[in-house]
Amino acid sequence: MKTFRIAVLPGDGIGPEVIAEAVRALRAVESGLDSVSFRLEEYPAGAGEYLKSGDPLPPETFERVRQADAILLGAMGLPDVRRPSGVEIAPQLDLRERLELYCGLRPVYLFHPSHSPLKNREAGEIDFVIVRESTEGLFSSRRQTLADHATEAADRMLITRAGAERVFHAAFAEARRRRRLLTLVDKANVLPSMAYFRKIFDEVSAAYPDVRTERVYVDAAALYLVGRPHTFDVLVTENMFGDILSDLAAALVGGMGMAPSADIGERHAVFQPAHGSAPDIAGRGIANPVAAILSTAMLLDWLGHAETRRGAEIIRRAAARVLADGRNRTRDLGGSLTGAEMGDRVIAAIEDGRP
Ligand code: ATP
Repeated sequence: MKTFRIAVLPGDGIGPEVIAEAVRALRAVESGLDSVSFRLEEYPAGAGEYLKSGDPLPPETFERVRQADAILLGAMGLPDVRRPSGVEIAPQLDLRERLELYCGLRPVYLFHPSHSPLKNREAGEIDFVIVRESTEGLFSSRRQTLADHATEAADRMLITRAGAERVFHAAFAEARRRRRLLTLVDKANVLPSMAYFRKIFDEVSAAYPDVRTERVYVDAAALYLVGRPHTFDVLVTENMFGDILSDLAAALVGGMGMAPSADIGERHAVFQPAHGSAPDIAGRGIANPVAAILSTAMLLDWLGHAETRRGAEIIRRAAARVLADGRNRTRDLGGSLTGAEMGDRVIAAIEDGRP
């Protein structure tokens, strides 16, 4: 029996609500798997922890998390809990940087036509992945502090050769697992950092002649993602562009409650719904847990064991079956199910789908 240690960081706002459903789904799938089990270890982190102890990611939590086989995270940060510089505390970003989780994977999939604000889209027609560089780019200045009486502020778009190469290789590998089309999203016509990003992309692409590539400026990418989302397979971009486009992409398939994500490095990986702590709906039981449940499937895939991969497939099929029925909708999807009711349905489908 192989036991995987999974660190669970529920975090703030709706984080604990959606993680509760993800954990129930994980336990439901676990009982149908042969020779693997999961030891779940919950640790405190986030804005709540910052208010309590002054540290949103206490050293013990970080150490435990670093030793785990994988990390499942809810959501962190609250609008009123800010550092003296004025920015929100964001231990999920600290984790990405400290564990070098450079490859942010954001799959976008339309499960039911009614979830999309776009007209005449069929289920499965929107099906792409955004690969977001997650350790540098325009987020690299986020720790800078400004002098009290500063009269200007500037953030730096940091692109390093090593950082760009590794995320491009990850994106080409992702494209090889899918339909073999990779779109680079940049702003190479205006920013020298982005021209450099494109030059490295062109070099790396020579090693993948079997993957078709295209290059699109970020403003055009926003237009095309709305106008013809079905033409994309894998998109790769820098940190901030990826942040913005993944929210836009989530909107195409039902919103943040439908957007799973993974942040992957060489040795560690964090899996979390792409949404934040959503304080506007926290504590009401209405948060959609699908993104968290699908993130758990990504975690099982990443663990790389034949049985965990089978578990990932069982979760994905269960979610697809539930969502194919247009009546199974939480509030964000225009329905009336609570988060726990949605969780119940997915779990029933997992139990049905077990051999
Ligand atoms: P962050 O900056 O921390 O990523 P954000 O500002 O992007 O957060 P979110 O917390 O992701 O904001 O919320 C954006 C909107 O999506 C809010 O209206 C929120 O209620 C909604 N939302 C987010 N997650 C869910 C969910 N799981 N179910 C339903 N609605 C959600």
